[in-house]
Amino acid sequence: AQYLDAIKEDTHGAFISVVDSDELLAQARGIDEARARGEDTGVLGGVPIAIKDNICVKGGPVSAGSKILDQADGRFISPYDATVVTKLKAAGALILGKTNLDEFAMGSSNENSAFGAVKNPADPERVPGGSSGGSAAAVAANLCVAALGSDTGGSIRQPAAFTGTVGLKPTYGRVSRFGLIAFASSLDQIGPMTRTVEDAALMLNVLAGPCPHDMTSMDVPSEDWTQSLGRGVEGLKIGVPKEYFGPGVEGLSPEVRASVQETLQRLESQGAQIQEVSLPHTKYAVATYYLLATAEASSNLARFDGVRYGHRAEARELQELYTKSRSEGFGPEVKRRIMLGTYVLSAGFYDAYYKKAQSVRTLITRDFENAFKAVDVILGPTTPNVAFRLGEKTNDPLQMYLEDIFTISCNLAGLPGISVPGPTSGLPIGIQILAPHFREDLVFQAASVIE
Ligand code: GLN
Repeated sequence: AQYLDAIKEDTHGAFISVVDSDELLAQARGIDEARARGEDTGVLGGVPIAIKDNICVKGGPVSAGSKILDQADGRFISPYDATVVTKLKAAGALILGKTNLDEFAMGSSNENSAFGAVKNPADPERVPGGSSGGSAAAVAANLCVAALGSDTGGSIRQPAAFTGTVGLKPTYGRVSRFGLIAFASSLDQIGPMTRTVEDAALMLNVLAGPCPHDMTSMDVPSEDWTQSLGRGVEGLKIGVPKEYFGPGVEGLSPEVRASVQETLQRLESQGAQIQEVSLPHTKYAVATYYLLATAEASSNLARFDGVRYGHRAEARELQELYTKSRSEGFGPEVKRRIMLGTYVLSAGFYDAYYKKAQSVRTLITRDFENAFKAVDVILGPTTPNVAFRLGEKTNDPLQMYLEDIFTISCNLAGLPGISVPGPTSGLPIGIQILAPHFREDLVFQAASVIE
């Protein structure tokens, strides 16, 4: 009840929809009673959790932050639970509602939402990051204990960095995406957003595992990730990419640089071995990502045609129905990406852009493979800057895209990555740790020391 009241009074715009409170309170009472009887109520028994509104929760609306799925004439209701939601429910979690996001998860500031921007609880004049801005704000403002986000190119880690919370993108294939509205299928991954590293580990324990409905989810053994916490970093080899601090990366702010340096000193004093590594193709990551992500998005979003889902425009014939429904339903950033992605995939340009980007993606992946021959984890900043002001970058999409420089390589290579709050004397700063595929244990081991 306390959380539902807090959500009602929330001034950050973190939630798009909230579940029926009577039902939720009845559920909470049921869990309390079961606990009083000494029954096992699950590892997340009674824990209030928020879900990014591009993930399906059966019987409730799902908007993806878009008017195309949530207009009076075409409100879309999820017909089933996403696998992650099924797992959370089975573990006893209470689902509070759905959080705000950039439309179809496209953005880095949550300003692309059809439901309005979200304010950063650390400073309401600033953005919470995106695209999982609502989930990050909900966790930071104590409106839930944990939230789910999705991360295609940083959308869990970047908002975590901006709001002073913890955000984990698991290895591609670790967590099922069945029931996630697809943005770029070769990059999308669902993960937890929490206040502590331990909570993130507990959440991953519940979320991980293969799923028969998602052929990209992999049958690798799960473990109890809380066991990786508090192991210390004695002898752990930590790589610091020289490209992240060099001339290739413009705009790394002095305060973020200082926070990373202080973190490294602390890790070194606890016995970690700090070593420089090289990721030579870093400078191509943003371009590569925005070619591949828009190409995949243009194809994934073809299903929103005014016939099958959501908003349907008035029209006399089919072509007009498609065009009008999509023109009315999609916002400007989504349209920009569909146009870019369609262009990238079109005959005559495919080889020059899409195919080239695929090759560079392989080179970026190899950079990491080589680096991980020498070190256990890679550490750097999550973002070049602290949270920027609302409206500051909305007129310059390219400037917005460049904010993703440190987060997107991780998706291109399919690696696990976390953002944890680093030392700061002002606004929150995120420290990012990356590890080889399916080595979330190393991510947690290092992260638990920084926190
Ligand atoms: N900022 C990136 C983009 O706009 C990341 C999005 C995401 O991870 N969903 O595409």
